[in-house]
Amino acid sequence: MSDLLELAQRQQYPAATLYVVATPIGNSADITLRALHLLGLVDRIAAEDTRNTAQLLGLYGISKPLVAVHEHNERASAERIVEHLRAGERIAYVSDAGTPGISDPGAKLVEAVREAGFSVVPLPGASAITTALSVAGDWAATFTFLGFMPSKTKQRAAFLQPLVNHTRAMVFYEAPHRIGETVQALADAFGGARRILIARELTKLHESLHVCTLAEGPTWLAQDANRQRGEFVLVVEGATPEQGSDDATAHDALLALLLEEIPVSGAARVAAAITGASRHALYARALELKKD
Ligand code: SAM
Repeated sequence: MSDLLELAQRQQYPAATLYVVATPIGNSADITLRALHLLGLVDRIAAEDTRNTAQLLGLYGISKPLVAVHEHNERASAERIVEHLRAGERIAYVSDAGTPGISDPGAKLVEAVREAGFSVVPLPGASAITTALSVAGDWAATFTFLGFMPSKTKQRAAFLQPLVNHTRAMVFYEAPHRIGETVQALADAFGGARRILIARELTKLHESLHVCTLAEGPTWLAQDANRQRGEFVLVVEGATPEQGSDDATAHDALLALLLEEIPVSGAARVAAAITGASRHALYARALELKKD
């Protein structure tokens, strides 16, 4: 242990730098030695939620001046952080849980600091995405991260429609109060046969991991109210390459036929009505076919 800590300490941590530090997603012990060393070294810690961060730091006996940098003040706070960097400070940024910038504030701060000419250094660690994917299986070997989907029914359907032929696994974040309807919406959009990993309360006391088909998901969740509590990562299997390319070929053939008779926008509208695919995506494809 002390050898490892020494390894963390041996790394150079230049002054006038912003360090973006991952913190645990549940279990407070999931913090790296490097993160602890760095948090103890910096002049100031910028945090999404200063109370939350103070608690975590307290567990490790670290006490530092804290600055709040959250969703609603990120740009304004970034200017203050840049001022501190100009004064030569080392500053760490931590979000509420996991990796900053991943469905969390941090991205605007990083841009502002880099634009002001200062270095930004990442200290990797926990994230709910990688934690869930590490136990998904081979069907999720390649993936696309989509974060939170829209909460309104219509917008959610429009969000999912262009993904129907996406062949990579898709990773979504979800809060507890919508989990049932979200999994139902995934089954409606992608059909019932694909696999889903429902990862709940990762690294926490009531952690659960369940793999089933999209058709089985809503029933499994409804069987026990506890299954709908907590924080969720959903990993959904992508379309098979054959499904994707069969659909694409069929859409092209239909669009080509329609384009002989009607303009691009009409062809996209009719093809969307026939296939159920996204009008927006079909319009873009129709424009390409027209050019060819
Ligand atoms: N920055 C974080 C990360 O690196 O994963 C994500 C922050 S985002 C505001 C919070 C969402 O992440 C939750 O609603 C949930 O979907 C997911 N999440 C975070 N911690 C989780 C956990 N312990 N188990 C399951 N999902 C979690």
